[in-house]
Amino acid sequence: MASISRIAQVTMVAQSALYGSSPLDAGGADYVNAVVKLRTALTCDALLDALQAIEQSAGRLRPYRNAPRTLDLDVLLFGDQIIKTDRLTVPHPRMWEREFVVRPLSEIAPELVSQAQRDAVKGQGVWPL
Ligand code: AMP
Repeated sequence: MASISRIAQVTMVAQSALYGSSPLDAGGADYVNAVVKLRTALTCDALLDALQAIEQSAGRLRPYRNAPRTLDLDVLLFGDQIIKTDRLTVPHPRMWEREFVVRPLSEIAPELVSQAQRDAVKGQGVWPL
């Protein structure tokens, strides 16, 4: 989160607590998850560039599909924009299926998450750290 807050032209507005989760479709150790709210003048594309640079510097390797990750940074929402390009789909297509997203998101932006959306992902194995 410190690296994200250091991206030029990005201000960290809110950050959730950290949540542990078990890998859903990958082997390996448990994950640590969080959601942050940013204010930025960057385009979503430029923001993704910056996030991917952080992933790279964290030494992320992708030896095979769904391999355990060092660090995975996704753009969930970008204001109310709908983006569909070769490298970006926003809102993130799977965000509402994952308790490790919905739970921290509802913590920092409860107005964005309905009770039905919360209930839909309950019980996937996500715990506050
Ligand atoms: P993954 O790291 O497995 O989540 O996928 C990374 C790839 O997803 C990158 O090549 C991105 O270009 C692409 N991608 C598409 N939409 C998004 C998004 N909303 N946030 C982050 N990466 C995205």
